[in-house]
Amino acid sequence: MIIREGTIKIQCSYDTAFGLCLEAIKKLNCKVQKENLQEGIIEAKGGITFTSLGENISVKLEKINDNITGVAIKSATAVSTVMFDYGKNQKNVDTIISFLKPYEEKSFYPPPPQQMQTTPAGIPYGQTPVIIKEREVLIRCSYCGALNEQGLTKCKECGGTL
Ligand SMILES: [Zn+2]
Repeated sequence: MIIREGTIKIQCSYDTAFGLCLEAIKKLNCKVQKENLQEGIIEAKGGITFTSLGENISVKLEKINDNITGVAIKSATAVSTVMFDYGKNQKNVDTIISFLKPYEEKSFYPPPPQQMQTTPAGIPYGQTPVIIKEREVLIRCSYCGALNEQGLTKCKECGGTL
């Protein structure tokens, strides 16, 4: 008996994921024997070819949250005495995974919150755009941070309104 397994997390609702898995299984040219949305189970039987006596393919879905669904794929030779599967089971698992790949959940780590920049005096930029430098009053652009002479209405660097 040869069993190949694979898992993937996809970024879609449980119902959508179920539909995608069904589509993926149909790509394998096999017959869906059981589909149960509540249980999150799809079972199919791969065709018997000259290289294969058929495989039992099962997909189990698990709701992780509203947007992410876990999918566990299993493909096993239908006949327990079969010791060589010509890579068929692995191919079944790979085909389903590659079908779901575009939907794969990318672990998303938001960038750490930026520390509010402060002037040397400890006053946050933006709140007091006027800083005094070398006895000249310069206005710090709140868009790009460039220093501009007083009297300008637009930043000489970026054109932003001062
Ligand atoms: Zn600017």
